[in-house]
Amino acid sequence: MSKNSINIWEDAKKQLKGILSGDIYDRWIAVIQCLDISGTTMRLAVANDFYKDWLEENYFPMIRKAVLVVSGKEMDISLVVDSSCFDAIKEEAPEPEHHSPISLPTLGLGSKKPTHNLNPNYTFDSYVVGPANQFAHAAGMAAANSPSRTYNPLFIYGGVGLGKTHLMQAIGNHIVTKKPRSKICYITCETFTNEYIDALQNNNVSNFRKKYRKIDMLMIDDIQFLDGKQRLQEEFFHTFNTLFESHKQIVLTSDRTPSEMAGLAPRLISRFEWGLVTELGKPDVETRSAILRKKAELLNLNIDHQLLDYLAERVSSNVRSLEGALIRVATFMSLTNQQVDVQKVEELLHDLLDKESQAAISVDIIQRTVAEHFDLRPSDLLSKKRTKDIAWPRQIAMHLSRSMTSQSFPVIGKQFSRNHATILYAHEQVSDKAKEDRGLQQTIAILKDKVSKNAAKTMS
Ligand code: ADP
Ligand code: MG
Repeated sequence: MSKNSINIWEDAKKQLKGILSGDIYDRWIAVIQCLDISGTTMRLAVANDFYKDWLEENYFPMIRKAVLVVSGKEMDISLVVDSSCFDAIKEEAPEPEHHSPISLPTLGLGSKKPTHNLNPNYTFDSYVVGPANQFAHAAGMAAANSPSRTYNPLFIYGGVGLGKTHLMQAIGNHIVTKKPRSKICYITCETFTNEYIDALQNNNVSNFRKKYRKIDMLMIDDIQFLDGKQRLQEEFFHTFNTLFESHKQIVLTSDRTPSEMAGLAPRLISRFEWGLVTELGKPDVETRSAILRKKAELLNLNIDHQLLDYLAERVSSNVRSLEGALIRVATFMSLTNQQVDVQKVEELLHDLLDKESQAAISVDIIQRTVAEHFDLRPSDLLSKKRTKDIAWPRQIAMHLSRSMTSQSFPVIGKQFSRNHATILYAHEQVSDKAKEDRGLQQTIAILKDKVSKNAAKTMS
């Protein structure tokens, strides 16, 4: 890379340093490496997906602006995950394997530098426990304290952004703190897959096998990636057996349970269920508040606790969005040196908050709202009664369910104890009528408003 190119990034960093608080700069910007610049494209590297997601969500426009200011041209900037350029081990004995995003401890023998690629922030200390995750947390602690002697494998599943990667890496970090020379391997299933494909292409499968079969603990993140990939499952099956038989701890995460993976070989499903399958649920509002306080403390942010509680109430879909909201507010505060109030938060986060209330709208809420509006009981809407005073509100509720949620006709059908064709018919019937009937248009608008308000209430 030419001197000039390096300067662009160095200068952009200086710009950003000027506008961001020291903490935020050190945490998010100083850690970025410039891989290359050619023409108007620039590739920046970060150590893992966590940084990539966070930067993209929160600081990307600012980075782009800073680059524009120093280079004088609009650059096409991409953020890539490349842990190899952050690997301490890389500077030691170079081997081809070092280019892979995982750094196996075996390669670092004799070295005092970290021999793993765990995010040091993902610890048990920084993990807030509440009713929705306490069981998974306890299981993770048990596995960390006595690997392979409690739950093996430990299978953690749950929706996106609910803390699977954090919990898994906390287990790894705990083991590494207690036994720094443990050979642990954290890898996403996608990277594992890519390595296997590379090994196949380069006739190097035996090395691939050796590498994964001589470690003390294997953590594979997002194992649902194996679903439907026969050959990879075959390979993984043998790795699993070798490690399991030699009493090595295996930890897996997934967005669904083993039996929900339709394309997973039955023998793998049964192995995944040998140990413990545990769920991470959505945190309740108290846990969300506690998480925000913890994050604010870790990031050294001086934000009013009432405001944190307000954020916790409003953002309930997952912890990643919650953190995103916090960072956005904190960035605004550090850029403007202003404290913010609820109104400002609403303004800063309006897109996110809209998405949140959208996500909270359910068929159940629609049924309750429509029933109340027409002075009926929700059960009337599900009944077989065909009198007009019930059939018509029922059709409106079906129509709203289709237009206000992202549910399919069959799924909505189930919730009305009807088949999908009935819902489709009702939906079209009401849409057609509303085209000519102003009164109906108004009723629908009022109902939509009530539904949104009721959904917002359920979030707090
Ligand atoms: P997943 O892997 O389930 O998609 P992550 O583990 O990446 O989710 O979590 C998303 C973000 O939320 C991370 O920054 C993580 O630190 C944070 N997080 C999730 N759950 C908790 C928790 N219980 N306490 C503290 N932080 C959490
Ligand atoms: Mg994850």
